[in-house]
Amino acid sequence: MTTPIHHWADGAEFPGTSGLWADVTNPATGRVSGRVALASERDAQFVIASAARASHAWAATSLAKRTRILFAFRELLNSRKDELARLITAEHGKVHSDAVGEISRGLDVVEFACGISHLLKGGHSESVSTGIDVHSQRVPVGVVAVISPFNFPAMVPMWFFPIAIAAGNAVVLKPSEKDPSAALWLAKLWQEAGLPDGVFSVLQGDKTAVDALLHSPEVDAISFVGSTPIARYVYEEGSRHGKRVQALGGAKNHLVVLPDADLDLAADAAVNAGYGSAGERCMAISVLVAVDPIGDELVARIAERTRAVVVGDGRQGEATEPDMGPLVTRAHRDRVAGFIAAGEAAGAKLVLDGRDVSPRGDSDGFWLGPTLFDHVTSEMDIYREEIFGPVLSVVRVASYAEAVELINRNEYGNGTAVFTNDGGAARRFEADVRVGMIGINVPIPVPVACYSFGGWKRSLFGDTHAHGTEGVHFFTRAKVVTSRWIDPAARPAGGLELGFPRNV
Ligand code: NAD
Repeated sequence: MTTPIHHWADGAEFPGTSGLWADVTNPATGRVSGRVALASERDAQFVIASAARASHAWAATSLAKRTRILFAFRELLNSRKDELARLITAEHGKVHSDAVGEISRGLDVVEFACGISHLLKGGHSESVSTGIDVHSQRVPVGVVAVISPFNFPAMVPMWFFPIAIAAGNAVVLKPSEKDPSAALWLAKLWQEAGLPDGVFSVLQGDKTAVDALLHSPEVDAISFVGSTPIARYVYEEGSRHGKRVQALGGAKNHLVVLPDADLDLAADAAVNAGYGSAGERCMAISVLVAVDPIGDELVARIAERTRAVVVGDGRQGEATEPDMGPLVTRAHRDRVAGFIAAGEAAGAKLVLDGRDVSPRGDSDGFWLGPTLFDHVTSEMDIYREEIFGPVLSVVRVASYAEAVELINRNEYGNGTAVFTNDGGAARRFEADVRVGMIGINVPIPVPVACYSFGGWKRSLFGDTHAHGTEGVHFFTRAKVVTSRWIDPAARPAGGLELGFPRNV
């Protein structure tokens, strides 16, 4: 029996009319667990129209009422995060504690959005010109589409929708068709929290659903996260249709280890950030840059730790939880295994081969163990391409300057980190690298919710990062009101004056 996974519109599940469905698979068993509805253009219009209708009343709802619903959502999600985490593990494959971790980071954004009354405060200036006052306000944009990737089915949507909803918008979430159940679960939770029907909808599907969102005149803003080619397409197509768009793309994140660093902590960091969530994180470390002369020692320590990584079915419960789960689909596992073969053929030294893995789980799962390459060069495909799997490439460089040059030449600029005990070098690194998020002895520098998340170069199209005050800005438009109330005791003279008004 497979579970049907529907759209959510007007406060109820909606199976859609397309008759098209895609299989959803449990990556740890290789078995189909559900069938997700794939929206037709007509289904998309139905969901968007419901959001557009709801957006007006929601925008007019007081901040006090909106905030109370946000708080209720926060409480419900916090108390039931295990339930959601189990859904994520069953469709994505990441181990349970990792799924709880992503929900917790999403909850941080919900908590940030609970302060929306403060975040939306405008300015006021009295007597900017004689008898004239000015105030500014930020108003909702209307209907916001959030299009998310498979790798964080809860956290990435939560980078956006808590703030969009708090700011008075209606949201249509188009999750990845690979793990669509979390979105539906979240929609039901919003309903329980008291959110009016239509303010949060879920549109399931593939390119047809995305294109309908990009082309609909009723959608005002698009927040996209996914691979770089699709991010670029969404940015260009959405902008062409007059929407504001933020489109976060792929990554190739470098961890630089300077010779003075604590090598044990650096090796721990490389393993945790390289193989956590099977490397399927946009902030995963995929390149380790070892600055001479520590390469041999560092690779030995990383290899020793990597051999201890347990790969298995992440649903098995806290006590016996493995470190790393399967990859999301068979096709993706095979693609990553193909990169391992390509790296070997290109002459990189294969220190540990994940294809030899003995997983703790069903033999039909999409398994691949942690893989370590040494002596990788910047011409090799395993360096240039985003692999998005448990493959860590070590590049050896002679100096700090060479490390920085490597990072700055890379076409991605999402995250990077340096491990060092030299404060001056760390400070210089921060200034020298052209990357959006930087860690100093922190391998996965995902900004906290009140700061904004986003990369540079091919990792972000558009200029607005996710959450924090940039998120509030993205989901609102500015109004500036210039007003003159006529005081009978100081009535202006009036009369014809066709010249451009000057301040007096
Ligand atoms: P993806 O680009 O394949 O899919 C992302 C979304 O786009 C999904 O909802 C999908 O249905 C939709 N989509 C796919 N093909 C499309 C097409 N041709 N036209 C229109 N829409 C389409 O990405 P993915 O494989 O789900 O996720 C992994 C990627 O996401 C990696 O590249 C990763 O680096 C990136 N990512 C980036 C960040 C970030 O913050 N920069 C965060 C998470 C993931």
